[in-house]
Amino acid sequence: MKSADQSKVLKDIKNWLRMQQNLGIKYIKNSDVIKEFINRQDMTVEEEILETSSLEKLKEEIKNCTLCPLHKKRTNPVFGEGPEDALLMLVGEAPGREEDLTGRPFVGVSGQLLTKMLRAINIERNSVFITSVVKCRPPNNRTPNAKEIKSCKPFLYKQIELIKPKILLALGQCAAHAILDTKVPLKELRAKPHNMKINNCNLIVFVTYHPAFLLRQYGEKQIFYKRQAWHDLKMLKKAYDKIKDQP
Ligand code: URA
Repeated sequence: MKSADQSKVLKDIKNWLRMQQNLGIKYIKNSDVIKEFINRQDMTVEEEILETSSLEKLKEEIKNCTLCPLHKKRTNPVFGEGPEDALLMLVGEAPGREEDLTGRPFVGVSGQLLTKMLRAINIERNSVFITSVVKCRPPNNRTPNAKEIKSCKPFLYKQIELIKPKILLALGQCAAHAILDTKVPLKELRAKPHNMKINNCNLIVFVTYHPAFLLRQYGEKQIFYKRQAWHDLKMLKKAYDKIKDQP
């Protein structure tokens, strides 16, 4: 997660601290923090993600991430937003232009449609956690490639582990394939619940069309796909109400 320059500075600090230790200095204020710092320098990025114990720290990891080339062109990574104990998590594909500029998920036109879709099933947008499989914008909004998804997936998995949602909605084929670890076409994955476990978190995963896909359709085709999305949302809402009412 560090640039070459940062790594060099951190190594120098670490060496200086070791030297203090060798000189017999036994107490440095805040030594626990320093110990943690020294240990973390030997960790791989994957180990750092696994170790992360709060969403705030994870957000920082993502801010410093250079695991794939998408970091080079990003204005802001998009961590996601919503309650830290959300029952429902929505996962899109990757940030678009507006999201890259603001650092917030689904704030463009597809975000507006997403808010309407949620409202249609009586779920307020601010009660769900919204994020994407990939946290940095791919050039020209292309679909993230397999390498980018592989690099970024541990961040999503850690978000799931920390938030512990009971229900997850994968928006679009990219999210559905990444989460369900399959290449089966979206039309065969939607309209049914998928029970699964991610990082010790039991989840019911639903799949539906990405709002951007719905917006790209016209006429009869749009009506057809919107109807299917409506069906998926109603199915999700049934599961949501059932779980919400559980003591
Ligand atoms: N599409 C996504 O998948 N995520 C966003 O945040 C915006 C658009």
